[in-house]
Parts: sequence; C-alpha cells; structure tokens
Amino acid sequence: MDHFDTIVVGAGVAGLTAARLLAKAGRRVVVLEARDRAGGRVYTERTDGLVTDLGASWIHGITDSPVASAAEAFGMRMVEFTVGGYQPDSRPIAYYGPDGKRLSDSAARRFADDIHTLDATLLDVVAESAPDASYRDVTEAALAAQGWDEERTQRVREYLEHRSEEQYGAWIEDLAAHGLDDDSIEGDEVVFPDGYDVLTAQLAAGLEVRVQHVVSRVRRAADGVTVTTDRGIFTADTAVVTVPVGVLQSEDFVIEPPLPEPNAGALSRLRMNAFEKVVLRFPTKFWDDGVYAIRQQGSEGRWWHSWYDLTPLHGTPTLLTFAAGPAAVETRDWSEERLVDSVLSQLRRLFGSAVAEPTRVHVTDWQGDPFARGSYAYMTVGSTTMDHDALAAPVDGVLHIAGEATWTDDPATVAAAMGSGHRAASSILGRPIAIDDLWVDGTLPVKGVAHGIRQFSP
Ligand SMILES: Cc1cc2nc3c(=O)[nH]c(=O)nc-3n(C[C@H](O)[C@H](O)[C@H](O)COP(=O)(O)OP(=O)(O)OC[C@H]3O[C@@H](n4cnc5c(N)ncnc54)[C@H](O)[C@@H]3O)c2cc1C
Repeated sequence: MDHFDTIVVGAGVAGLTAARLLAKAGRRVVVLEARDRAGGRVYTERTDGLVTDLGASWIHGITDSPVASAAEAFGMRMVEFTVGGYQPDSRPIAYYGPDGKRLSDSAARRFADDIHTLDATLLDVVAESAPDASYRDVTEAALAAQGWDEERTQRVREYLEHRSEEQYGAWIEDLAAHGLDDDSIEGDEVVFPDGYDVLTAQLAAGLEVRVQHVVSRVRRAADGVTVTTDRGIFTADTAVVTVPVGVLQSEDFVIEPPLPEPNAGALSRLRMNAFEKVVLRFPTKFWDDGVYAIRQQGSEGRWWHSWYDLTPLHGTPTLLTFAAGPAAVETRDWSEERLVDSVLSQLRRLFGSAVAEPTRVHVTDWQGDPFARGSYAYMTVGSTTMDHDALAAPVDGVLHIAGEATWTDDPATVAAAMGSGHRAASSILGRPIAIDDLWVDGTLPVKGVAHGIRQFSP
C-alpha cells in the first residue's frame, strides 16, 4: 500500500492547484483521477485541426483573476469576448424581437437600460428577501416596483429567466434569491483560441497524476486517510477531495464517517445543474460581422435565445448556444440530430434560408457524465452564499474538500476551483502561501515515480 503526505482526489483545476502547491512545498502528493485525462470540467476537443472547449471557455473578468495571471504566465493566447456572463450590452449584440425582426439600435438600448434599472433595484430586494425566497420571488418583486406595462415587463422577465439558466443552468424558481449574488464580472471576459486545457496541462506538469483510478471510499481516522480505488488502496496523512457536488452526493462515493456539520448541511443545499453546450460550425456566415452575440426575445426564444459568434476564435463560421436549465433537462434524451434541428429552426426563423446545414456539431452531455453529473453546482432555495465555504470546512484536521462549489466569490468557475485548491493547500501546510507559486518557477521536486503514474507534460 502506497503512503503519501497528501492524496488529492480529482485532477480538475481545484485538485491540480492543491497538488501543485503542496508538491512545490516539498510534500509527497498523489492525484487520483477517475478519467483517462486530467482537467475535469476543463476539456478541449481537438479534431481536424479545430479546437473546441466543451467545458469551461471563459474567464469571466480578468481583473485580479488568478486564472488570467496563470494563463499569462503559461503563455496562453487570450481573445477578448465580453458577453459570456449574459451581459445585455457590454459589446455589440444583435437583438431580435418576439416577431423575429431585428430591433433598432434605440430599441435595443432601451431594453438594455431596463435591465440595468431592474438590476439596480434588485440588489436591495435580494438583501431584504426571506431565507426561503427564490430568484423568481425577488425578480418579480423588483419588476412590480418598476410600474412598467406588461410587454416591457415580460421582455425583462424573460431576460432574467434566461440569465439564471445560462449563468447557473437552473430554472429561476429553483435558484435561491442569493443565487446570483456573487456573479460579478471585473474587467474584460476572455476565451482561449488554443484551448483552456493548456492551463490544466501546465498545472499537471510534473505531478504524480494516476489516471483511471476511480475512488469509491474515503475513510478518515485521527492519524490520516485511507482511500479506496478500483486499482487499490492508498493511505496518506491528509486528503483533498475535489470531486463535483453531484459525485459527493452519490452513493458511488462514500465518506466515512459521514460528513459532519456544517459540511453535510451545506452539501445538501447545493445541486448540480443542467447546462450543455451546442457548437455549430457552418459552411458560410449568415450573421453580421462584428456582432458578439445574437439574442431573440419572446416565447419562440424559450429554449434557444442566444448564440455566440466564435468565428474570430476558430477561423470558421461557428456559433455556440446553450441548452440550459429546463431546455437541458427536456432535451437530455434527444438525439443530436433532433436537438440540432430544433436549434436550426429558430435560427431560420431569424435568418431564413441563409442558414445552411452545419458542417460539424458538438453537443455535450455533462449531465450524463458519471464523474461530473452536471456542469456546476447552484444554490437551491433555502441555501445561503455561506454554504460554499461551509462545505470546505476542514474535517477532523485530515479531510479537506475543495472544488468550484466550495468557493463563495464567483462559485461555479475555474477561478473558484483554483481559489479552493489554494485554500486547501494553505490549510494543510498550516500557513498562508502565495497563489503565484502555481505559475512562477515552474519546476517541481518530483518524487517517487511508481508504475501506473502518468507524468503530465504540456
Ligand atoms: C459546459 C461547461 C461550461 C463552463 N463554462 C465555464 C466558463 O466559461 N468559465 C468558467 O470559469 N467556468 C466554466 N465552467 C465551470 C468550470 O469548468 C468548473 O467550475 C471547474 O472546471 C471545476 O473544477 P473542479 O476542479 O472544481 O472540478 P472538476 O474539474 O470536475 O474536477 C474534479 C475531478 O474529479 C474527478 N472525479 C470525479 N469523480 C471521481 C472519482 N470517483 N474518483 C476519482 N476522480 C473523480 C473528475 O473526473 C474531475 O477530473 C463550465 C463548466 C461546464 C461543464
């Protein structure tokens, strides 16, 4: 049986961050990963010379972002793409009204202004909301206070529904009133033309990452942890568990003894969402140059309301849309062909016969992925923003939980995963460490190369 200083479960951004910082501090660390690759929900597909991020794409705000600092240090090319956070107007957006006709610039401006007006009052409504209020409850209260006519109200209501779906993959009535509190964007948003997975490859470089090791049990005692995998048992003084909330909640992943409070209560109030990407590559471009996104209003846009132009990123005409919340749940068992036809029928409503059949499509299935069980976690009604940090409270001094869902400031992101891995490493070392250690002076004191270890090199 192999004994380590720390076992990290999961080779996503959280796990790789914790492992790298601990290894740099001279600890003997192993990362146990169920998949045949590192990266987790950062996953880049490369086929026919095309690079497609099927998990995370964006840094939602590069100001003071450790992810941006790491990406820069790793030499990753970044392309500005500031509408990813479901922003109404920060960059050119082609809006189409409920009748399928393009809105004039002044009508689009009025609509975006209404959203800003609503958002300004929403903050106070959320702050004063009851503990069991949903995001729907607070947005309806804020809408009622505006005194707008029904048409104007309905347009903004739809926008708020779509925002909670696209940002959290959750229906507005299922999301806590505070569910979007920490969803702030500081600075430009960027994406990666060469793939987000360059980041995780760099974070994994030189680490002992044992892929295809499915962990089924983490048992703790006063003197350490015992981790059971389908390829044997590992022991360590401490463990960092970074599997997604959906895995933590499943019967396939047992923590013994069960998690105490506050971790257990927090875990019960978080839930994996339903959020899938649909990437469509076309033979020709049928939308305007210089437009970042296309959005349609009205009931026809119930599911398919927003398309993002990835052409500048890929060099081929490409649109990205999302099946988010109810759309993702209801189309989960659809064939790819049926789903793409459904999306195309809406595009044809706006652009007519100019919309050719796509030459290539990608439709994700994060909901069906046993090692993700959704795309990221959201706060169910009754939860508070503190639940994120509560989930990460160290357990008996030996077990540390990290991952996107355990970080209060912008949860559900790569930045959150990185922050949580950093916190777990500091907690184990018992002293603050600089997050910059992740990317400065890249070499690691690699230890004990045993069989079955994949040494990751970018
Ligand atoms: C479609 C999609 C779009 C997204 N878009 C963005 C975006 O634009 N910007 C952004 O910042 N974030 C985005 N995210 C969220 C972001 O990808 C995640 O928040 C982040 O990558 C999570 O990292 P993590 O380390 O917490 O978890 P993960 O990356 O899930 O890492 C956990 C690891 O644990 C492994 N694991 C699971 N079960 C076991 C087991 N039993 N045994 C061993 N290993 C196991 C998994 O395989 C995985 O590698 C998106 C996610 C998805 C899915």
